[in-house]
Amino acid sequence: MLLGLMSLLETVEPRMLLATLVLMLQCALILYWARQRALGKGRAHLLLVIGAAISLVGLGMRVVAVLAGTAQEMRYDTSNLKQTVSVAIGTVTVMMYSIGLVLMAKERSESRLQHLAGHDVLTGTGNRRAILERFERELEQARVAQYSLAVAMIDIDHFKRINDVHGHLAGDEVLCHCVRQLQQRLREGDSLGRYGGEEFLLLLPRTEGEGALAALNGLREAMAKNPARFAGLEIELCFSVGLWCGVPGEGDTPARLIAQADAALYLAKAGGRNAVRLAA
Ligand code: GH3
Ligand code: MG
Ligand code: MG
Repeated sequence: MLLGLMSLLETVEPRMLLATLVLMLQCALILYWARQRALGKGRAHLLLVIGAAISLVGLGMRVVAVLAGTAQEMRYDTSNLKQTVSVAIGTVTVMMYSIGLVLMAKERSESRLQHLAGHDVLTGTGNRRAILERFERELEQARVAQYSLAVAMIDIDHFKRINDVHGHLAGDEVLCHCVRQLQQRLREGDSLGRYGGEEFLLLLPRTEGEGALAALNGLREAMAKNPARFAGLEIELCFSVGLWCGVPGEGDTPARLIAQADAALYLAKAGGRNAVRLAA
């Protein structure tokens, strides 16, 4: 804009047209940016879109004035109603852009923080906090609607050995691989979260004991058939599962059901691992 205006110093209309067209292009970019970058149709998006739309109208008025031969009335050093309205529109929309962009940055960082608060940094699945919150909700729904909920505590077998033999980076990749394999095979409505180091909590709503056993055994077999890959090596892995299943009653809290699933997991480990055990 600066170079263009300098080359048109001696003119009025071409200079006004050039400046107005550059500003219109800027509005179009802001609209594009709002579409691409603002999250959803929140306040930031609204401010940017309305601001750009008002700007485009105001700038359009300037173009019409220039083309109609009344460019002199729109000069910044003259004072009349049209010019006052045009400057007011410019001022208001610049404020709208500023607030919109600040809000957009705020919305994006809030959304990132929210994501971090509920997700495991390594595997990307829900973290302990998120899965426990989900558990509370699922439990309440199953209790109210009186349907069966399956709660599976999944623990990778001899994971420490994987770390010791292949290193911690390989161990990390095994954890990610495990999550990917599980997530691929879950139904919509099932929830998975990383409960601890190499332990995952899986919730299967509307699932009876037999169905849950079959599902978990299917996952276990799939995992045994699909080794993880790290640095050109295939790392075989398997897991054990402690399963609680039933229609929750009044006294069934997440802590209590997790304790029962844990006890079943202990039996699966004691029985030789790579197995699913249903809690009594
Ligand atoms: P078991 O079959 O009885 O479950 O044995 P295990 O070796 O899997 O269980 P143990 O509890 O002895 O070892 C778990 C290991 O998981 C110990 C810990 O160093 C490792 N671990 C926990 N979190 C992570 C992680 O984020 N990355 C890696 N690489 N290792 C982790
Ligand atoms: Mg463990
Ligand atoms: Mg383990």
